[in-house]
Amino acid sequence: MQYYSTNGNSPKVNLQEAVVHGLASDKGLFMPEVIPTIPKAFFNNIAEMSLQDIAYVVANTLFGQDIESSTLKQIVNETLNFDIPLVHVSENKYSLELFHGPTLAFKDVGARFMARLLGYFNKKQGKSIVNVLVATSGDTGSAVANGFLNVPGVRVFVLYPKGKVSKIQEAQFTTLGANITALEVSGTFDDCQALVKSAFMDKELNEKMQLTSANSINVARFLPQMFYYFYAYAQLARMGKPLDNIVISVPSGNFGNITAGLIGKRMGLPIKRFIAANNRNDIFFQYLKTGEYSPRPSIATIANAMDVGAPSNFDRILDLYGHSHNAIASEISGCTYIDEEIAETLKDTYNNTGYLLDPHGAIGYRSLMENLKENEIGVFLETAHPAKFKDVVEEIIQNKIDIPVKLAEFMNGTKTTVKMSSAFPVFKKYLMNV
Ligand SMILES: *Cc1c(COP(=O)(O)O)cnc(C)c1O
Repeated sequence: MQYYSTNGNSPKVNLQEAVVHGLASDKGLFMPEVIPTIPKAFFNNIAEMSLQDIAYVVANTLFGQDIESSTLKQIVNETLNFDIPLVHVSENKYSLELFHGPTLAFKDVGARFMARLLGYFNKKQGKSIVNVLVATSGDTGSAVANGFLNVPGVRVFVLYPKGKVSKIQEAQFTTLGANITALEVSGTFDDCQALVKSAFMDKELNEKMQLTSANSINVARFLPQMFYYFYAYAQLARMGKPLDNIVISVPSGNFGNITAGLIGKRMGLPIKRFIAANNRNDIFFQYLKTGEYSPRPSIATIANAMDVGAPSNFDRILDLYGHSHNAIASEISGCTYIDEEIAETLKDTYNNTGYLLDPHGAIGYRSLMENLKENEIGVFLETAHPAKFKDVVEEIIQNKIDIPVKLAEFMNGTKTTVKMSSAFPVFKKYLMNV
């Protein structure tokens, strides 16, 4: 399979090059040249299949030309060594719990898949060290750092905005050591993202070292996220639910997660429509309303992993729908909630159903509460475990919550970071000298 750039000004590349380079040379995002369809028969007995078996069929459809099946199967099985259950919350509304992986957020799936694929390509081409640069507003850094920890031939630099991620999130990527370095940037998430983008565009830096991205701009990070959309469908089938009116709500920041779902639909997954759920950083919501895309600086909210002012996968959505606002708006609706609404939903849901949402999932759930029609079945992606946002959640529900052991263990480590300016020349000098 070849991958083209959404900007259309660089040559097509194969999967290996798309994964190793992250971004196309014209700064565009890679897209698969063909979106293959999965035969309809696959859906007839999907209810009986395991997460791993479903994911392998999907992975093989996308990547089967580029990776031999035994390797691909192993990568899929190692990536998905945890369950992704669909849990009933209230009438016709289900939570797809994406927080059962090692860092308790959905990004484990993409990060674990990408780390293994990169390790495989690296070994195959016998190359020197690959340097992974990743900007994080919280969860990406922990998922990528843990996904890549001790992968031979790979060095990871996590850039995060100083003071703007939760203590638990921070502990997940600043305490690992080994091949993981955490850079504490004086600035916002957008500054971190800008530093990473500038590094990829810097000729001198790229001649000196092999750089790649593990943000959702990387095809190996974002595409595997479609596995669990298929698995959500399978679980509804297993429950004997009607399957022709499924609505999926995705709490969205950089829009990698929802883009994976949209491509899954294009491959044949019968989803009726999607909801892109935003916090106050509602650039996409405004785009749906007006047809204008106006990125702006991000605003801090209690759903901080979605505090993104310039969603990096927006160009992929435009590309997927031939730049037609009409086509986009006919499959995706939007919503936007302020912190008070997020908190209210989290609290009410906990009190009325006993289900504890995290602030991001609360946005997804609220969008179903407000938008689901009578004959529809709604699934929202519960993108992280509420304990990752312990302080915020406890304050809202006025109750203590249990911290899963996996998470508590990170807090016992020692934080080690490198302080970094948000000025690119300083960052460049640092990388040139590591
Ligand atoms: C990253 C993240 C999101 C947003 O996902 P995108 O793919 O960037 O849209 C939502 N919730 C949580 C908990 C996250 O970590």
